[in-house]
Amino acid sequence: MSKMPVLFVGHGSPMNAVEENRYTNTWKEIAAGMPRPACILCVSAHWYTRGTRIMAQDKPKTIHDMYGFPDALYQIFYPAPGSPATALAAKSLISRETALDDSWGIDHGAWSVLVHMYPGRDIPVFQLSVDALAPPETHYQIGRELAPLRKEGVLILGSGNVVHNLRMVDWHMEGQGFDWAHQFDDFIRQSILTGQHDSVVNYQAKEDTARLAVPTPDHFYPLLYPLGAAEEGETVRVFNSHCEMGSLSMTGYLWGN
Ligand code: ZN
Repeated sequence: MSKMPVLFVGHGSPMNAVEENRYTNTWKEIAAGMPRPACILCVSAHWYTRGTRIMAQDKPKTIHDMYGFPDALYQIFYPAPGSPATALAAKSLISRETALDDSWGIDHGAWSVLVHMYPGRDIPVFQLSVDALAPPETHYQIGRELAPLRKEGVLILGSGNVVHNLRMVDWHMEGQGFDWAHQFDDFIRQSILTGQHDSVVNYQAKEDTARLAVPTPDHFYPLLYPLGAAEEGETVRVFNSHCEMGSLSMTGYLWGN
């Protein structure tokens, strides 16, 4: 089995699930251009918990964890099978305490992207939570520990947004970002393209913009998992490198394809 690439996707608005736009078109193109995964391990910004949790269900439910959106979004289901065996294998690779937790399912951070990448809903999917209390190094370390799964055909998929400040959203800024949003997004991109993972993990040192770009780390931390699972010197493709509504960036990264 070929070693799977690793992927971070900026998922943006839940509406991307029902739209066809430049972002969703790229997600489709990326899925078509990489080996078909045996299984998908998704780290979504929207499973944000105390402690690290992992689900090991046969049939994960679809979670509609967003409010006030059009009905069409609540009609979306992603009934892909789970993969309890792979989830347990992942759990055993993680050195910190990781709880089995089947209370969650496939949330919109995962399905809003997966409906475009794998509309057949036939590839097993499970999620690993983002521990809200753990420092950035811990998230990166978990990514490193999960890297061996790549050889088993597992796609490690982080789904969040590098820049995500909902309080600053400006609906008039379609396809545009504030200067600080671009600056932080550029800083992360340059750090990744030059292999300076430390700078990404220590993003708070970028004091001028980090506080605005990452007011809470829920959408940033999912980046650190695929980053950790990527190997030094692997090829990186940057895609969807745009800002939306002023304070979101849609930038994604694909390593090793
Ligand atoms: Zn989100």
